[in-house]
Amino acid sequence: MTLQSFQLDLPTVLLLHQCSFLVGALCFLYTRWQSRRGEGLGTLAIGFLALAMSSTLAGLGDRSILSREIWTFGTFTSGLIGYAVFWVGMRRLSSGKAHRADWLVMIGPAVLIPVAAVTQFYLVDVVRGAVSNFISFVSLAAAAATVLRDRRPENLPVRLVLATVIALSSLLALTIVVAMLTPALAPMTPRWAFFIRIICHFAVALFVIILVKERAEAALRHAADTDTLTGVGNRRWFTSRMPKAMREDDALFLMDLDLFKQVNDRFGHDTGDQVLVSFAETIEKNLRAGGSFARLGGEEFAAYLPHTTASEAMAAAEQLVDVVRKLVVDSNGERVPLTVSIGVAMGEDKDRSWSELLKMADAALYAAKNSGRNRAVMFAEPTKAAA
Ligand code: GH3
Ligand code: MG
Ligand code: MG
Repeated sequence: MTLQSFQLDLPTVLLLHQCSFLVGALCFLYTRWQSRRGEGLGTLAIGFLALAMSSTLAGLGDRSILSREIWTFGTFTSGLIGYAVFWVGMRRLSSGKAHRADWLVMIGPAVLIPVAAVTQFYLVDVVRGAVSNFISFVSLAAAAATVLRDRRPENLPVRLVLATVIALSSLLALTIVVAMLTPALAPMTPRWAFFIRIICHFAVALFVIILVKERAEAALRHAADTDTLTGVGNRRWFTSRMPKAMREDDALFLMDLDLFKQVNDRFGHDTGDQVLVSFAETIEKNLRAGGSFARLGGEEFAAYLPHTTASEAMAAAEQLVDVVRKLVVDSNGERVPLTVSIGVAMGEDKDRSWSELLKMADAALYAAKNSGRNRAVMFAEPTKAAA
């Protein structure tokens, strides 16, 4: 059967249209309940329910169950409200934040509905159809743009697909407007455009769910890789950044704050925490671009510097020792004394694993501690202080 010979009867299309919004609304409500965070899903569900209502009224009108005045007015107003609410919900979902000012969009329906009630333009099918579809074109185009624009702060792969589906639905709405006003120019009949939009509604619901899931997974991944106190990467993240075999020009630093127990004992645990945060911030700021830095646990941190010679690595480590020595952390007007010891190990010309290199850096760190702290020491056989 060719596409042209396939007949779409209006009651079936209306029923499917209504179902697509109902299924979408149910998906949004279920995902909202599952995610336990609003994220605009409730608003999207209300938008889709209003659109389902608009479609239901059109269906009842088509079967002459409702008077023409009632169904045309009802379908027009609920469609208008539905698309405005959908836009608000999509903005909220996409940005992850509520923008109260977005609700000002409801001024549109608040003005148009009384105008429609007075002029009764909604009774003329072409005018009602053209106005509603034009509004849906604008609302969907704006929603698609928002989903794409928010890729900057949050680059989820599904955004491109979701924005494409919404944009396609928007273009189809415009096609319907053209088909109603100048049928000769339209690439397809309104009924076909309507039918493809139904598929888009199901796709929108599906990709919204995927967006929420991708967002939750990204948050979990971030939490799993981040140290909660300092916000830098944790041991798990650091391990994942390490090459299988360390290269000759790979440098590994193991850093340990000096006499940190005394800081806790003298200034309190909260100040100790503050020192760890300031230390992590300082190292991140001063670490060479391309380096990785993480908190391995307690007051022990590590850094990985690829493409570094031994002398560059030592210079970088000594510079870090220097900035930490100069770091000012204040506790009730008193400066907290702070220094760090760093053990440095190079990949050299053997294919060492990163844990082997870590052991070498640990031995060098031990030597740094033993030779007076507040210094960087390069691992050597036998280990000797280089400060
Ligand atoms: P050294 O110079 O030999 O490294 O001496 P140190 O006192 O730094 O070493 P030690 O291992 O004896 O003490 C480490 C201290 O770090 C003990 C522990 O209470 C403290 N510490 C570990 N994790 C945290 C934390 O998250 N917050 C705070 N405030 N202290 C921590
Ligand atoms: Mg320690
Ligand atoms: Mg220590």
